[in-house]
Amino acid sequence: SHTAELIAVGTELLLGNIANTDAQMLSQGLSTLGINVYYHTVVGDNPQRLKAAVELAKTRADLIITTGGLGPTCDDLTKNVLAECFGKKLVFDEGSAQRIRDYFARLHPDRPMTDNNLQQAMLPEGCTIFSNDWGTAPGCAFESGGVRVIMLPGPPRECRAMFRYRAIPYLQDLADGVIVSRTLKLFGIGESAMEARLRDEMQVMTNPTLAPYAKEGECELRITAKAADHHQAISLIAPVEAQLRGIFGDKVYGADIGSLEEAVLALLKGQKKTLGTAESCTGGLIAKRMTDLPGASAVFRGGVVSYSSEIKKSVLGVPADLLDKYGAVSAQVAKAMAEGARRVLGCDLAVSATGVAGPDQDDRGNPVGLVYVALATDKGTYVREVRAGSGRERIRTVASHHAFDLVRR
Ligand code: ATP
Ligand code: MG
Repeated sequence: SHTAELIAVGTELLLGNIANTDAQMLSQGLSTLGINVYYHTVVGDNPQRLKAAVELAKTRADLIITTGGLGPTCDDLTKNVLAECFGKKLVFDEGSAQRIRDYFARLHPDRPMTDNNLQQAMLPEGCTIFSNDWGTAPGCAFESGGVRVIMLPGPPRECRAMFRYRAIPYLQDLADGVIVSRTLKLFGIGESAMEARLRDEMQVMTNPTLAPYAKEGECELRITAKAADHHQAISLIAPVEAQLRGIFGDKVYGADIGSLEEAVLALLKGQKKTLGTAESCTGGLIAKRMTDLPGASAVFRGGVVSYSSEIKKSVLGVPADLLDKYGAVSAQVAKAMAEGARRVLGCDLAVSATGVAGPDQDDRGNPVGLVYVALATDKGTYVREVRAGSGRERIRTVASHHAFDLVRR
């Protein structure tokens, strides 16, 4: 099995001006090829330190991929240093030079190309040239003493395209199998409860492996299999997925799906049902999340942000005596809001949310984080009381999760 090291070159990475997203993209890509990435190195635009990093990488990796520093400016030194480390000369490549001239002429027909651009046509002798259809600097690859070296440009768009269309074909014979993963998404269970339930299973599993993640009230379970081909990987994953669905039941809301709202959109689209919202504490977040999705118009009719009691009464028709008797943060008002929205918006289903987002408890002494969400349907209205934690942002996010969760059930 092969081991790779990624070396990102760029002082702006070290200064924290940009994040090393090229490394993230490359690591994901290499894992699908079954190539293990053991190290990410970041080094500034400094020839001595880059050289030291490459010498170290040589001792512990048989594939080195560099990103950045291929451009025309004097701080772009990757090729010089890598060639030196592997005892190669840089030679002028006329084909690359012509591509650079053409690219420049297309992009800047009005100005002459400066000669330093042709620096980019200097490439290690005997290398495989990766022509760049997405920018100017060509990439390249060579093999020396059992180590393969690949150099890719830094700009993420170019790096991604060059990896996919140039480096992957070059690496094909290195790949020993594939790594495939499938992510189950869960709502309504805490991370620790999920982990506790799975501890025994996780300890004995080696292929596929199981990795739990949690974020803001949601959980994920990633099943990852390593196999000779995609088909075989899927057949390793399927029984584990079935087992997990058996354990967690309807807490699993989807697999390889982005979010709860995506599950809701797919479900309602299938049922040809429309949705509307009546939001108080979430201030439009439920509608926002819905309309973030392309294709939402097939399902989503609209929403009312009824933040004040006046709007709850005048627009949604929430009875004044309900508000007086129970207060705005109550199961009764959540129910009336959802039913009002369903009527006013003329939709099959309407969800509502009303709660205390903080920082202080409300005038009736309801605690921060108490939220009621309701779903009005033609068969009746369902209300759920939620303790959404603390912090306005988190409370609103968790409240909107619950609103979507109510819809999908
Ligand atoms: P250019 O021809 O644009 O000079 P280059 O290959 O020389 O390309 P750099 O000069 O090192 O690459 O970086 C160009 C830009 O690409 C940087 O300013 C940065 O925005 C982006 N970039 C470089 N390296 C990375 C990285 N590892 N992750 C994300 N973005 C990066
Ligand atoms: Mg550059």
